[in-house]
Amino acid sequence: MSTYRAFEATGVHTLRLVERELVDPAPGHVRLRVQACGVCHTDVLAVEGLRPDPSQPVVPGHEIVGVVDAVGAGVTAWQPGDRVGVGFLNGHCGECEPCRRGDFVNCLAQAQTGTTTDGGYAEVAYARASGLVRIPEGISALDAAPLLCAGLTTFAALQQGHARAGSLVAVQGIGGLGHLALQYARSLGYRVAAVARGREKEALARELGAHEYIDSTAADPGAALRDLGGASVIVATASSGASMSPLVRGLAPNGRLIVVGAAPDPLTVSTPDLIFGTHSVVGSLTGSSVENEDNLAFSLAHGIRPSVEVLPFERAMEGYERMLSGKARFRVVLDAAA
Ligand SMILES: [Zn+2]
Ligand SMILES: [Zn+2]
Repeated sequence: MSTYRAFEATGVHTLRLVERELVDPAPGHVRLRVQACGVCHTDVLAVEGLRPDPSQPVVPGHEIVGVVDAVGAGVTAWQPGDRVGVGFLNGHCGECEPCRRGDFVNCLAQAQTGTTTDGGYAEVAYARASGLVRIPEGISALDAAPLLCAGLTTFAALQQGHARAGSLVAVQGIGGLGHLALQYARSLGYRVAAVARGREKEALARELGAHEYIDSTAADPGAALRDLGGASVIVATASSGASMSPLVRGLAPNGRLIVVGAAPDPLTVSTPDLIFGTHSVVGSLTGSSVENEDNLAFSLAHGIRPSVEVLPFERAMEGYERMLSGKARFRVVLDAAA
């Protein structure tokens, strides 16, 4: 095989199936045969042209599971046949200042998979070796894919705070991120509160691990969390800044509101709500590749699984539209092996 099929995003809201030449991986990189790739809301950066030069084609997708089939010069820790994942961060450089301080997530020379470098809406993908994640036996490619971005994002965010076992931790939004965050929070030993609009998702939230359910259309969610004693950590996954603003008042002393849902509108905070109780509002950007291995090991040990809708790779546009519609329950995964 000297070519492979890939979907290229160009301009705005266009995916085109193309044949590409198979090339050797660059030094320090590997090439993999894609088995599955999750569809994430962040794929809009590539597909809707929200990047520096949308006239340049890029292959979207950053929840890639595959098998290494070639390694570039200088790669010693990975071999053909290794089953690996690649998330949003395509591999750190190891040489810039953040890397030298061990802060790989903030590497200054790290490509973003499926946005600034080609991703996994394809039969073949490439990644820097430092970005690779070993996939344990016992997790299927279709389950592993969403864990690599949606999973890692919430798993790492939950551990940014200093919540003790048994303390109140809240998850706002029950969608692609939130349905995983509830499972992690429960397994991490917290008293878990789910915050969402309406009552339709209450039964599901409780099934996924929530001890408490707060309908944010019926009560002020900050006040409701305060009534429960205040949350040490709140992971905000909804793509609405306005919906996150009232949560700050629901924090326990030294509590943190951790923002992982990208929203078009701002989150507003009154300064006394930060000062009294010494509250913080912070962002969280996925995690490093080794933290992703922790995430998969934790998920396997605790039976944490994404709820997925699977489509064959050829129907990538339909999968992307399904994700955009917000109706998927809860993650869409493209199956390249189907
Ligand atoms: Zn993502
Ligand atoms: Zn770096």
